[in-house]
Amino acid sequence: MQAVILSIGDELIMGQTIDTNSAWLSERLADLGIMTLYHKTVPDDATAIVLALKEACALSEVVVVTGGLGPTDDDLTRHALAAFLKRPLDLHPPSLERIRAFFKSLGKEMAVINRIQAMVPRGVEVLDNDWGTAPGMKVKVGKVLVFIFPGVPREMMKMAERDVFPLFQNNGDSAVFTEALHTFGAGESTVAEQLGDLMRRDRNPLVGTTVSQGVVTIRIRSEAPTRMLAQKQLAATVKAVEARLGVLIFGRGGETLGGAVGKLAGQRGVKVTTAESCTGGLVAQMLTDEAGASQYFIGGWVVYSNAMKTRELGVPTSLIEREGAVSQAVACAMAEGALRQEAVDWSISTTGIAGPEGGSSGKPVGTVWIAIGHRSKSGISTQAECFHFPGSRTMIRDRAAKTALNRLRLELLK
Ligand code: AMP
Ligand code: MG
Repeated sequence: MQAVILSIGDELIMGQTIDTNSAWLSERLADLGIMTLYHKTVPDDATAIVLALKEACALSEVVVVTGGLGPTDDDLTRHALAAFLKRPLDLHPPSLERIRAFFKSLGKEMAVINRIQAMVPRGVEVLDNDWGTAPGMKVKVGKVLVFIFPGVPREMMKMAERDVFPLFQNNGDSAVFTEALHTFGAGESTVAEQLGDLMRRDRNPLVGTTVSQGVVTIRIRSEAPTRMLAQKQLAATVKAVEARLGVLIFGRGGETLGGAVGKLAGQRGVKVTTAESCTGGLVAQMLTDEAGASQYFIGGWVVYSNAMKTRELGVPTSLIEREGAVSQAVACAMAEGALRQEAVDWSISTTGIAGPEGGSSGKPVGTVWIAIGHRSKSGISTQAECFHFPGSRTMIRDRAAKTALNRLRLELLK
């Protein structure tokens, strides 16, 4: 099965808004075994939309259109659909009621112009929008299934989850199940090397990798005549991937590094604090992005200046003067200082040069010392490691924070 995704909107053509809808839809459809033939971005122009619909329906079996369902004069997708189908636009009273009720729930009166959003080409199925105003639409054009959704990503996603993907869950004779395993700490080529023959393109389940912000994800897609077989095959491949990658894998599905650390800390019954310089609180943010973080994270410090490092965490001035703020000794002193201030089990510290200025030949931009502090029966111990992260300031800080969390994760696994 093949799909075409059409994104409608002048703002997309002008580059003011990035088309994220197409990427998301294609990825989700691929999980279900539906390959996207192409993406097309079309301006808010009825003639152009009709042409794009004609072409898409001639070339694919599923067409998903997003955008152009707003209430203003430049939103022309519904008019274009009516023209394409050669049918008139009718008022759909239940949708009008829903739109009224939507505004009412916000304590507002519906504006007259919103009435157009309840207009639908005759004979087209209406897909309720429980998350906004414009309803979606579904229509069969010959053998082609055409879906029309609002451009607002959140509304589009909710509606596609409800109205599109379930239709293809058990697509004809085969069932498809997918899993995503996330790794951190090794590059994509290293991961691919370790996966070896598991990544052969003629294999089922199919194993592939993607990279996003330092996280290499292994995507597994299992297809079989029955659900049970597809699931069984998927489980076996997940196991094989786990066996090859071991502790590189920190989670699956929607899990994050912060969440993985939290889960382990929770299981071990330990508490964590942070002492951050160059990451400016990113480690704490990643930990607290998880609901329930108060179970294991007590809080931490952002000690950017040398004076703060000394005043808050007791890092000796002489040490900073002798070794420099970006050094093994200072990273360890920060991690130790945090544990002296708070009676918890683990601490994470970061100190580095995020750039773009401030680098030197001895300590170039991207140099980051990360220390992990641990309180055990025998006292406080610390160990630091030096990293050199490439890229922009944003990238360096992100990778440093993730590397710090990953180091603690590996300690907790021991
Ligand atoms: P519309 O349905 O055309 O009124 O779009 C509503 C909102 O969704 C606008 O703010 C658009 O910029 C945004 N939007 C529309 N299409 C896309 C898309 N393909 N990707 C991301 N955002 C979009
Ligand atoms: Mg628009």
